[in-house]
Amino acid sequence: MKIYIQTDIEGVAGFCFFENRRSDTHENFAHRQRMYRLLTNEVNAAVKAAFDSGADEVIINDSHGSGYNIFFEELDPRCRIIHGRNFSGPEWLNLLDESTDAMVLVGMHAMGGTPCAITPHSLWKVNDGKLYLSEASMAAAIAGDKGVPTVFISGDDKITAEVAEKIPGIEKAVVKEALSPYMACSLIPSRACERIYEGVRRGIALRKTIAPYRIPSPVKLTLLDSANHCLPFTEQCPPCVCDTISEAFNQCEDQMEWCKRNTKLPDGFVFP
Ligand SMILES: [Zn+2]
Repeated sequence: MKIYIQTDIEGVAGFCFFENRRSDTHENFAHRQRMYRLLTNEVNAAVKAAFDSGADEVIINDSHGSGYNIFFEELDPRCRIIHGRNFSGPEWLNLLDESTDAMVLVGMHAMGGTPCAITPHSLWKVNDGKLYLSEASMAAAIAGDKGVPTVFISGDDKITAEVAEKIPGIEKAVVKEALSPYMACSLIPSRACERIYEGVRRGIALRKTIAPYRIPSPVKLTLLDSANHCLPFTEQCPPCVCDTISEAFNQCEDQMEWCKRNTKLPDGFVFP
């Protein structure tokens, strides 16, 4: 059994500010390291649950910002992790294919414009606003194109509610309640990890009863957001119309300044 774990950081218990990539103070360094550790522990709880459920292959996608957030030297050595420059590989959800039995979402945040959610951003408009997707439900839709069910989500109360409404039967762990965009009532990390472990176990057990989340063809897709993630949002690219949401997503991303998909040779990029 192959399990794919898609990760982000904003939905982790204890996280409540947008990541500051400009400050080089010691305080910011220490804060970011702390958030990476919280993320690492939540991801490891999901990995352990997958193996305890009978998985023989677990792939993690380190998908926040730089794509280099998880302390992978601390992960269960049986898993593998995709890390490094985000959007430089062929896909967003690299190595997610039809042989995957289930996808698990850890650390997810609400879609842009959601009132009283922790650091909401990114808002995918589908078919002129008939449907809106978050990064989490977008990942589920791309997995759905491949027939892969999304069986678990963790994050704040808002993103878990959005995804649970779209995917009947999905298991969830609400690891924090949003009190403002920058204030949460979080579970203590050890308890959050317990909830994630238990939820992933339940979700994987139910994988054959949870339908893949599919968006019917054709799809017209646009990314809405703003530079500081505050309203008003604007269309970040011209709309893309494709047979599948996966194709439309790639076409939209290819128009983004940060996207270097299918990079084959170095272009001088350095990290951080
Ligand atoms: Zn993120």
